[in-house]
Amino acid sequence: MKIGVAKEIEVGERRVALIPDAVSRLVKQGCEVWVEAGAGEAAFFSDAAYEAAGATVVADTAKLWNEVDLLLKVKPPQQREDGQHEVNLLREGSVLVGFLDPLGNPALIQQLADRNVTAFSMELIPRISRAQSMDALSSQASVSGYKAVLLAAAASPKFFPMLTTAAGTIPPAKVFVIGAGVAGLQAIATARRLGAVVEAFDIRPAVKEEVQSLGAKFVEVQLDEDTVAAGGYAREVSETAKQRTQAAIAEHVKLSDVVITTAQVPGKRAPLLVTEAMIAQMKPGSVIVDLAAEQGGNCAGTEPGKDINHHGITQIGPINLPSAMPIHASQMYAKNLLTLVQHLSKDGMLQLDFADEITREACVSHDRTVCNARVQELLGTPMQVR
Ligand code: NAD
Repeated sequence: MKIGVAKEIEVGERRVALIPDAVSRLVKQGCEVWVEAGAGEAAFFSDAAYEAAGATVVADTAKLWNEVDLLLKVKPPQQREDGQHEVNLLREGSVLVGFLDPLGNPALIQQLADRNVTAFSMELIPRISRAQSMDALSSQASVSGYKAVLLAAAASPKFFPMLTTAAGTIPPAKVFVIGAGVAGLQAIATARRLGAVVEAFDIRPAVKEEVQSLGAKFVEVQLDEDTVAAGGYAREVSETAKQRTQAAIAEHVKLSDVVITTAQVPGKRAPLLVTEAMIAQMKPGSVIVDLAAEQGGNCAGTEPGKDINHHGITQIGPINLPSAMPIHASQMYAKNLLTLVQHLSKDGMLQLDFADEITREACVSHDRTVCNARVQELLGTPMQVR
């Protein structure tokens, strides 16, 4: 099997799908790996490092896309500067793996199906223990949670740790993390390592122990409804629950030096949790980092990609934080892809078994058909049973 690693063309994307270490593992397993020239440059992996790992560096983009059996990417295929759409560079019958944003851009999945490309979307790897090492949503969310705290600390006019010095005693910063999923838990751990006092809230009561085990206080809110959906994700809650949540978190937002929000409900706009009135109550110099900025934001007024300042409060709406740490984000993503490729192949050859849950759930297009029910629904096409 010939595996290709594409150079990402999305503006601001610095990650690469495979790092040299992952390449050498695939080569040892009998795969041929082609890496587009410069693919790892923005993540500090040189063409020479890929060659030393056993890859062939290919300068001709069209040749690479057209000749590989399996193409690995970070971001979805898109329109190129020369007017060509990347989907049309893929060979009919080939396989594509990457973050394909199937629910955000179902039309792209249809395009892939029309091109007869078998596509696997990393967002749809099931959250089961067998698939943990392929779980790229988790690996990249960890990067975001860590980086969010560093952004907050850099923007804060205060120390995070308690300091006892000859110039007086400085109390520790108070950090409030809303949403204690993968990114939130990493944010809690990072803020604790910097010495802050941390509180956290999530509508899934099961995370209470995890929050406490990281040395943070869990803010409890009594919600009289089921807040957990399939796969351990949160579900969208009722209007009453939203109001109750907002009332309960208002006091904690007001007293915090830093608020980091990470709350998401898959396939929905991110819930609005921190209102304008709450932000107005915060102390001047406080910082908000809204990790849900790209999904609509958890805080009123968040603007994706911008740092805004009102009444002395800095509100940061970061975009694509994993790309800001491209070495480790790529290393973790490459490990996720490596495990998935091993899962999809045998003796260096692709062998797709759709009876397997991971293969079936992650596949969005196969045999000229969009094969994910939610994507089909969004496209308005009737359900096709494979
Ligand atoms: P996510 O990014 O979809 O959401 C982040 C967090 O926001 C979640 O913890 C969610 O409960 C929370 N949230 C949603 N609405 C909220 C609201 N109104 N108020 C406060 N918080 C709200 O989730 P994620 O971090 O990708 O994963 C969530 C969970 O999925 C994990 O904590 C875990 O239980 C499960 N998971 C399982 C595996 C596995 O078993 N392999 C892997 C990863 C995640």
